[in-house]
Amino acid sequence: MSKLILPHGSQSLKVLLLDGAERKQEILKAQGLKKIPMTSRETSDLIMMGIGAFTPLDGFMGRDDWQGCCESYSMPSKSGLFWPIPITLSTDEEYAKTIAVGEEVALWDTETDSLMGTMKVTEKHKVDKAYECQQVFRTTDVKHPGVQKVMEQGAVNLAGPVKVLSESYYPEMFAGIYQRPAEARAEFEKRGWSSIAALQLRNPMHNSHAYLAWIAVEVCDGVYIHQLVGKLKPGDIPAEVRVKAIDALVNKYFRKERILQGGYPMEMRYAGPREALLHAIFRQNYGCTHLIVGRDHAGVGDYYGPFDAQKIFNEIPPNALLLRPLCMDWTFYCYECGCMASMKTCPHESKAVIDENGKYQGGARLLLSGTLLRKLMSEGKPVPAEFSRPEVIAILKQYYDSLEEKVAVELHGAATGASAR
Ligand SMILES: [Zn+2]
Repeated sequence: MSKLILPHGSQSLKVLLLDGAERKQEILKAQGLKKIPMTSRETSDLIMMGIGAFTPLDGFMGRDDWQGCCESYSMPSKSGLFWPIPITLSTDEEYAKTIAVGEEVALWDTETDSLMGTMKVTEKHKVDKAYECQQVFRTTDVKHPGVQKVMEQGAVNLAGPVKVLSESYYPEMFAGIYQRPAEARAEFEKRGWSSIAALQLRNPMHNSHAYLAWIAVEVCDGVYIHQLVGKLKPGDIPAEVRVKAIDALVNKYFRKERILQGGYPMEMRYAGPREALLHAIFRQNYGCTHLIVGRDHAGVGDYYGPFDAQKIFNEIPPNALLLRPLCMDWTFYCYECGCMASMKTCPHESKAVIDENGKYQGGARLLLSGTLLRKLMSEGKPVPAEFSRPEVIAILKQYYDSLEEKVAVELHGAATGASAR
């Protein structure tokens, strides 16, 4: 019998992705159905349902579940089961009028212009978007990227069970890192792990992240470094570069049999505390018993307090989740302690000063700033070893150099009127 944690509210994963003859037949049927265009967020949610990461959902939510999630983290259609963020599909009001309840529709990804799934519409409902934003994001400020997406949605939500027909470009584009929950679970079983901590990453793994992974390895069988793959914001480092940098770090500074890397296709909402809860649910579905929750998990700007995403785990009903958070304080390198430390351990309050040549000038705590790192690297100056391992820096440097060359080539092309390839 498996020693792994059960999926959320379920004895087994709910995988909505069809395959083989069943899939072929559904694709054929979809040719004759009305298309519902989906945003990138809706497409990523559909894929999460497809691979079982959103177990036990069976489709996009109706009004009662939407209301329940917003108000009290619960889904009336699933006996009040815990769920922190509504998973909905919207369309505009005029188009919604042409769709009948009971009708089957084709779910269409607008980014890749392709069929992603089908849905039997069981309900059409209007929601109060400002209320949803206030509950989920704790703000209605449209400068918040998550709020902006909700406010831009169509006025009518379509609900119903879905059949998923595609995982889009993820399996090919992120081959080697993209992983479905069943695959992660099989790998955990093979390694004999039963307590697993998930480390959420959307940035390169610097010493602060490595420190969190080390602490987690001490108390669990293994660490699952779980990266967001998919659509990027300008300035983000592409997944393949992050994977390479993590590999370099793990191969040299960790016992390889204690670390596994995987990628998931969900788009960030930046909902801070509520999103940390959603991250907890899908990590439980991936087979993890713990989620490392650091400072400002899944937050953006100043919308959330630095530890709101940790506090919320004490505010939800005690039996809401099987997975437990591993709450970690702000970590840094301390020159006085002579090691990585956190606000919880280090008594030295002064900030370390690093000059513009990357040289240590005094003080205690070296807070890792991405901006300073980028500046030192782009100017070819040494990065303090306390910030990131040389193997990681080398890979990031190679990436930034390749970017600068591209920019330089484009500028040259524009100046001479030649096309830059
Ligand atoms: Zn210290």
